[in-house]
Amino acid sequence: MKLLEGKVALITGASRGIGKGIAEVFASHGASIAFTYASSDEKARAFEAELAAIGVKAKGYKSDAADFSAAETLVNDIVTEFGTVDVLVNNAGITRDTLLMRMSEDQWDEVIRVNLKSAFNLTKAVIRPMLKAKSGSIINMSSVVGVSGNAGQANYAASKAGMIGFTKSVAQELGSRNIRCNAIAPGFIETEMTEKLDQKVVEEWRATIPLKRGGTPTDVANTTLFLASDLSAYVTGQTIHVCGGMLM
Ligand code: NAP
Repeated sequence: MKLLEGKVALITGASRGIGKGIAEVFASHGASIAFTYASSDEKARAFEAELAAIGVKAKGYKSDAADFSAAETLVNDIVTEFGTVDVLVNNAGITRDTLLMRMSEDQWDEVIRVNLKSAFNLTKAVIRPMLKAKSGSIINMSSVVGVSGNAGQANYAASKAGMIGFTKSVAQELGSRNIRCNAIAPGFIETEMTEKLDQKVVEEWRATIPLKRGGTPTDVANTTLFLASDLSAYVTGQTIHVCGGMLM
């Protein structure tokens, strides 16, 4: 059964990692895919072709999610090209990890802009087509770190906690319009973002996870599919942890 047949999904930051996994799973369920990226032009073109080979309409847009007016332009372009936006996944994110004592103002601002302000920018931009369609699903990629905090990630944890408060508020404001908004809190998902980490630390993390492994982009994508589709028609304002039991 294809769960997203006839739907248009916008996924930010899908040139690689979790966003790419989400786009692949959505495409396999029949969704047309508009995705964004920051600088990976070649990867984006190759991924467009990969998605088209699955048999869905797909287009990658170079667009800075942290830029308010760029988000408006992006959604206008997507509505012109695809007709509407049924599902928005606010996935684009970065880390600039360091202890608070060493954290610069730029490191704080950059993470808050790319991770949190982006969710505001894109959500504002998709409200119009979703109101017109009288339905929509918005999914914000938070993190278990937004719930637990993490030494060395004060900027990142604050941005991810902010996304959860934002999610609950949007769910309350737009529920009466049949627009749902939920968050996903992934734990340790093995992507390029985590490749930068010390391998010894990675092994230690795997050992402490009840399911004894890091997650995959597909693990997160399957939960995103649930929240995007009508299977979750009565679910809004929630944060689902996809973390192998890392945070209970
Ligand atoms: P990733 O592999 O580093 O990929 C990040 C994606 O975001 C890339 O497509 C990148 O595009 C894009 N991007 C970065 N800055 C952007 C901007 N300003 N505007 C538009 N796109 C931008 O990251 P990931 O590990 O897949 O993580 C995806 C999301 O899940 C993030 O929000 C992250 O915080 C969250 N998360 C990840 C983990 C984990 O363990 N990996 C755990 C919890 C939460 P380019 O390729 O062009 O740079």
